[in-house]
Amino acid sequence: MKFLNKVTAVAKLPERISGLKEISKNLWWTWNYDCQTLFEDIDKVLWEKTNHNPVIFLKQVNQKSLDKVVSNDSFLERYDNVFSSFKSYLQEKNTWFNSTHKNYNDGEIAYFCAEYGLHESFPIYSGGLGVLAGDHVKTASDLGLPFVAVGFLYKEGYFIQKLDSNGNQESHYINYDFSDFPVEPAKDENNEDIYIEMNILRRKVYVKLWKIDVGRVPLYLLDTDIDQNDPEDRLLTHRLYGGDHEMRIKQEILLGIAGVKALRRVGVNPSVWHMNEGHAAFLNLERIREFAEKGLNFKQSVEAVRSNSIFTTHTPVPAGNDAFPVHMIERYFNYYWENLGASRDEFFNLGLEIREDGSHMFSMTILALKLAGRSNGVSELHGKVSRNLWKHAWEGLEAVEVPITHVTNGVHSETWISNDLQKLFDKYLSTDWRNKLDDPDIWSKVDDIPDEEIWTIHKKLKSDLIRFLHDRIKLQRARHGETVEQLNEIEKIGDNNILTIGFARRFATYKRATLIFKDLERLEKILNDEEKPVQLIFAGKAHPADKPGQELIKRIYEISRMPKFKNKIIILENYDMNMARYLVSGVDMWLNNPRRPHEASGTSGEKAGMNGAINFSVLDGWWVEGFDGNNGWAIGDNRDYEDLELQDKIDSVSIYNQLENEIIPKYYNTSDKGYSHDWIEVMKNSIKTVSSFFNTHRMLKEYTQKLYMPAIVQGKNFYSNDFEIVKDFTYWKEILERNWNSIKIKAVVDTDLSEEIAVGKEINVNAEIYLPGIGPDSITPEIIIARLEDEKVVSIKSFDLKLKKEIQKDLYKFEGTFEIEERGNYGYNVRVIANHPFMPHRNYLMNFVKYPE
Ligand SMILES: *Cc1c(COP(=O)(O)O)cnc(C)c1O
Repeated sequence: MKFLNKVTAVAKLPERISGLKEISKNLWWTWNYDCQTLFEDIDKVLWEKTNHNPVIFLKQVNQKSLDKVVSNDSFLERYDNVFSSFKSYLQEKNTWFNSTHKNYNDGEIAYFCAEYGLHESFPIYSGGLGVLAGDHVKTASDLGLPFVAVGFLYKEGYFIQKLDSNGNQESHYINYDFSDFPVEPAKDENNEDIYIEMNILRRKVYVKLWKIDVGRVPLYLLDTDIDQNDPEDRLLTHRLYGGDHEMRIKQEILLGIAGVKALRRVGVNPSVWHMNEGHAAFLNLERIREFAEKGLNFKQSVEAVRSNSIFTTHTPVPAGNDAFPVHMIERYFNYYWENLGASRDEFFNLGLEIREDGSHMFSMTILALKLAGRSNGVSELHGKVSRNLWKHAWEGLEAVEVPITHVTNGVHSETWISNDLQKLFDKYLSTDWRNKLDDPDIWSKVDDIPDEEIWTIHKKLKSDLIRFLHDRIKLQRARHGETVEQLNEIEKIGDNNILTIGFARRFATYKRATLIFKDLERLEKILNDEEKPVQLIFAGKAHPADKPGQELIKRIYEISRMPKFKNKIIILENYDMNMARYLVSGVDMWLNNPRRPHEASGTSGEKAGMNGAINFSVLDGWWVEGFDGNNGWAIGDNRDYEDLELQDKIDSVSIYNQLENEIIPKYYNTSDKGYSHDWIEVMKNSIKTVSSFFNTHRMLKEYTQKLYMPAIVQGKNFYSNDFEIVKDFTYWKEILERNWNSIKIKAVVDTDLSEEIAVGKEINVNAEIYLPGIGPDSITPEIIIARLEDEKVVSIKSFDLKLKKEIQKDLYKFEGTFEIEERGNYGYNVRVIANHPFMPHRNYLMNFVKYPE
């Protein structure tokens, strides 16, 4: 038939509950279960079918379902409560930030990341990095930080994973309709849509800017899929991590450069810039360009940028760090670096990494480290690993001195703790536990929860999970063409009374998803024990280009279909945040066995631990800090291995031994009430210790105090009076650079050290230091004592030397004493490092280090 035109009719939202529309446009509801329950109560089937997307839900819901709830008093009462919580959340003035930094009137904290995992219905994330960024933004909103975030609006998101009947991973993409997402075009001061113009390979690329509200925080998203662009540039924002190297560099140029321009267009003037992972590092090139426009030279611009830039590195796997061949950077930036006032060499030095094979690469991580005054890893161990991995960026430094600190990752508690447990906490912790997430006293009340109550809820969550996995497996096997009889068999999968272990994460090879299958015979005995059986549930995507990762999936799939493992090993397809919530709250135990020390932090175990799903994990990432002997189990030892085969063997045996000897007996040590008191005790210890520390409220307070605020203060100082301090500081640094190599140090230890010395004995040191053109105020002379284990430096302590007199022109005498506090082997020396009153911390310019010749 021919039509004049087409229209879509949607139900009319009754006035009485019209606030649902407003709520649907702010992701606040993603961490408010009472709100989600409203949608579920209107039409549960539709709510599931839309993948919990309120925007689509309101388009598709029936008029009848809406009219029905409007006549339901209990629904309306709950609606009113939710709507008023929403309103008061948005208007709240008494936030943590406002009460901690009362007179703050500087700009926003600008946060850049290539992916954000905010909710399953908004698929602009792939895994842990995105979920962490999503949790970071939600928490910035909760704590009232002046915060703004920048990312991409991907037309096709990350891939949808399907497994075929042989266990091969298929990747599917959906072309999303942005009107199904709670995003709106960002508007300028004339209320016009915003388009940003930039050049990539000398071609004009236009970027449309979108905005989504995450509670009180705006997240700006970049989109090049618009008519004005060449077809190939329209693809730039199609897929997350979807393209080749060329695509990746273009996307990173877009994120960094268009991202900065975007914030300028919406009138944001950030006081600190946070690069979450190296993908965002180009943003600081654009900032250098801006400073050059204001008249600063290249070196001054670099100092201006460093003063208030933060960089968080997320991966200790060298291959996981983006780097581009120098010739590629040349092609993309050869018209750009002159706008920075930089020479070619100066430009390349910002990111140059000469590999062992002699290749010259431009490393996004080095670029980020060099342009950030403050950098961090994401757990204590990862901080240490990162200092080792990147020490070549600071010549003359021992790894222990490399200025990369750490802030251990957490998760957003209200997003990740199941609704049922949250209700239980309301009853037993305190009514305002959500505002005191990092208070261990609140969490100590978990001990007051009766075993029976917590177990009843745990069992309910477990049966929710089993129902969920039935649905998922049915869909999969129906697609594979199984018969109705075969499909009915699926109901037998998953037993609520069996110890259930979950393993779900990206299938990167270092995560060793198949480690537990190393000894299949032994595993078979464990899983199929008549009285104390165990079941395993796996899920996770492998990157479409990661063939070894896909092989792991296939292997697990094949094992899961072996008759001897029937219904005992299950692999689910298309792991996402929704499935993650079911798993981390529904399993009894959460298994994680990465090849230490490759897991920067890991966060899924934190989600599990908060829900009382007990961690059984390698002592890597967050678990080294989290494990206390009573709140879960550790796989292997607190050490690293050179021999990977040996490491696999030791770790897998550790898994079997502990399952057989401790974990399974504890789980099945049940009373006549049907549960094990000993097990529940570990659950409670897990909830207490994991919830009180590994949450993003604690994490963001740490970021604020350790990184954001110091950077904000420094930036403000540096930029005041038309960049007076930046200019002074740069000038001083240039003098230092010119003269540094002429520094000469002659040091004499007055105390006899030819024999062993006693701990605590004072040792005197004299030094004559020649400082041509520098002067003693610009340096700190220090004695350093390095503690050695196996000839390796494990820690360094320093003691300042005091100026005694100028012996002759430019030659100064210094004196000092030190003592050794602990027995052991030490190396000591004297050295000179830079010192300037505006250096925010001692290690700020650690590329200036001079030792005696
Ligand atoms: C939490 C989460 C992750 C991160 O898992 P780890 O491997 O523990 O870092 C990845 N994907 C999804 C969907 C998640 O929810």
